[in-house]
Amino acid sequence: MSDNKKPEKITAIKGMNDILPADAPLWELFENTVHSVLKSYGFQKIVTPIVEDTALFKRAIGAVTDIVEKEMYSFTDAMNGDALTLRPEGTAGVVRAVIEHNLAYEGPKRVWYKGPMFRHEKPQRGRYRQFFQVGAEAIGFAGPDIDAELIMLCRRLWDDLGLENIRLELNSIGDAAERQAHRAELIKYFEANIDQLDTEAKNRLHANPLRILDTKNPAMQDLVNKAPKLLDYLQAESIAHFEGVKRILDHNNIPYVINPRLVRGLDYYNRTVFEWVTDALGAQGTVCAGGRYDPLIESFGGKPTPAVGFAMGIERLVELMKLAGEPADPASCDVYMVHQGEAAQMQAFVLAERIRDAGLDVVLHCAAATGAGSFKSQMKKADGSGAAFAVIIGDDEIANSTAAVKAMRGAEGEQQQASVPFDAVVDYLVDQIVGHDHDHDHVHYHH
Ligand code: ATP
Ligand code: MG
Repeated sequence: MSDNKKPEKITAIKGMNDILPADAPLWELFENTVHSVLKSYGFQKIVTPIVEDTALFKRAIGAVTDIVEKEMYSFTDAMNGDALTLRPEGTAGVVRAVIEHNLAYEGPKRVWYKGPMFRHEKPQRGRYRQFFQVGAEAIGFAGPDIDAELIMLCRRLWDDLGLENIRLELNSIGDAAERQAHRAELIKYFEANIDQLDTEAKNRLHANPLRILDTKNPAMQDLVNKAPKLLDYLQAESIAHFEGVKRILDHNNIPYVINPRLVRGLDYYNRTVFEWVTDALGAQGTVCAGGRYDPLIESFGGKPTPAVGFAMGIERLVELMKLAGEPADPASCDVYMVHQGEAAQMQAFVLAERIRDAGLDVVLHCAAATGAGSFKSQMKKADGSGAAFAVIIGDDEIANSTAAVKAMRGAEGEQQQASVPFDAVVDYLVDQIVGHDHDHDHVHYHH
């Protein structure tokens, strides 16, 4: 630049992460596993926009919540003045879509979603401003059976991912009337101990006292542990529902701990609430949270439709997979194509396409600078690529219409090299790589 100044570097927004290629295989493993588990329970995918009307979240999440009070990325569309928000969670959009498209018309629906969520929180380990969730919503189911099914789906996912030591915490928060009765006692109790409340709790005392039970302030743990328990205020129907969930979990040997302090401080949540928690991640130990929200859809103008769902934080689960030492399958290719000279490059392009037609993964050497680089430097790249074979084409090979095919795995000196006519290279590689190994199922050999 003429003024000799380097351009200023632009970095990512605080709390918003890049997922780099080195971590991608682990993310892919998580995603593939969760997709297949969801499918095995009959859940169908739904994709809703990342941006929605701000009013949607205010109504679905409730005004007196962390999210709506202080975490939403809300803005005015400069073009038309619309009040918009980057979604902080997935349920609101799914519920909107279900009502808008009358999806539950023909009967109950099981759907799942995945994608980035945005909350303006204080970034720390396991807590980001953009983070990814995968969630499931079961719409139109009233009974305790589906609650248990969602929990068992999670359990299967942890097993399939090889994750141990994620415990299930379970509670019932009853219905609005039951919470009202409990709330009056709760406020009385906290008022009698007002000197022990922190500022946040004091602010919540009359707006959302249930949420005080959720406090992470160590100084208040004793106080909230002794507070009146919502479970003691449940009436017959809520008790029967909760017993129904527990009966199915017990019958299927799913361990859980009842946590009377587990609340979803949201107006529309009711009855079953659960969290999956680990001690391996420090303070941010909840990897999945779920619950029933029977009144929500009606409150949005839909016809009364019971529903229950969960959302899991993918960053926290991928972190757990890392800690568990889950080996990420290396992002290696089958074949690396090495070439020298223009005729060889042209031949390499053609051959690479034919090898890909046969279902193998090929990395074709491309120039990092002027010229393709020496054979030696290309072979180093082939080695680093993790390829099983290098296919080498130079002047001699062009003259003979053959390629040198070198096995890259195995000890130095034992690596075999064969001279294979261009026309036979595909067959040769398929035979060598796939052989009689029927497990190599991504290969579809075309004749
Ligand atoms: P917390 O009490 O930790 O703030 P929450 O109640 O706000 O949690 P939910 O809205 O229930 O969290 O979200 C479900 C899951 O999504 C969480 O259990 C967690 O795994 C993940 N999650 C929530 N917020 C974040 C975040 N800021 N960064 C990363 N993951 C998150
Ligand atoms: Mg939160």
